Amino acid sequence: MPPCIFCAILAGEAPAEFIDRDDFCAAFLDIHPVNPGHVLVVPLAHSELLASVEAATLGHMFRMAQRLDSALRLSGLPCEGVNLFLADGRPAGQEVLHVHLHVIPRYRGDGHHLRFSPEYFKLPSRDELRHNAELLRKQLGGQS
Ligand code: 5GP
Ligand code: ZN
Repeated sequence: MPPCIFCAILAGEAPAEFIDRDDFCAAFLDIHPVNPGHVLVVPLAHSELLASVEAATLGHMFRMAQRLDSALRLSGLPCEGVNLFLADGRPAGQEVLHVHLHVIPRYRGDGHHLRFSPEYFKLPSRDELRHNAELLRKQLGGQS
């Protein structure tokens, strides 16, 4: 069995409830759903981090997530909105080190909330925003 659980699932060597699959990615139910119908969209090729996923694969993943969003809203499962979530790296909360996009059905009163540190409630100055934007633009300029 592959050492990566998602590679094992994709190879059919570990069980999962598959929802969709194309030549680039597949979608299966999360084993520990935030809400019923929580789906993971996973590239077929193993990559730990988002930066190493091919652009074409990313397009397929997002399109699959869009179709799942519509399917969830029509499915009869409780779904009044959808969160897309991707944890890129352990400090961002990534537990399974094979890129995956969460598609999470949400409904009023489901009891889930994002929590922010007290820092969040201090608005940054315009100068700080300008400085941070410049740092990012500089990096994008150096990328293909
Ligand atoms: P992360 O924290 O890395 O963004 O999320 C990993 C997700 O993978 C979690 O929501 C977890 O419940 C799910 N997961 C972990 N192991 C398995 C598994 O063996 N099968 C399935 N279907 N989901 C899994
Ligand atoms: Zn993998």
